[in-house]
Amino acid sequence: MEWFKKFMEDRTGVDHLSLALLIVSILLFLVGKLFGWEFFAWLALVPLVLCYYRALSKNKLKRHQENILFLKYWYPIQSKWINQYRAFKAKRQYKYFKCKECGQQLRVPRKKGKIEITCPKCRHTFIKKT
Ligand SMILES: [Zn+2]
Repeated sequence: MEWFKKFMEDRTGVDHLSLALLIVSILLFLVGKLFGWEFFAWLALVPLVLCYYRALSKNKLKRHQENILFLKYWYPIQSKWINQYRAFKAKRQYKYFKCKECGQQLRVPRKKGKIEITCPKCRHTFIKKT
C-alpha cells in the first residue's frame, strides 16, 4: 500500500464531484442493463473516465475549483431532498386535523387511539382517532 500512498500523494483523490461522476456512471450502466440499451453502457464510460481523470489529476487547484462549483449547485438540491424526506417522514408519524372553530391546522402523533385534541389557538376541543 506504500507505493499507492506515494502515487496518490500529489494527486487530487476522490472528492464530491468525482464521487458524483462515479454514481452517475453506475446509474447509466444499470439503466442500460435494465432496459437493454447497449448505448448507455458506453455512455457510462464518460463520467467514469472523468472520475478517474479527476482523482489522478495533479492539478489540485483546478480540481478543487471544479468541486466547489459543483457543490454550489449540489447543496441546494441535496437540502431540498433532505427536507422532502423529513416532510414525508413527518407525514407518516403525525396525523393532521383542522380545527372546526378557527381553521387552525393541528398536528398530533399517530397511533395513539382516540384522543381529545385541544386547539392551541382557540381552545376548542374535539375527539379524534389517530
Ligand atoms: Zn381552533
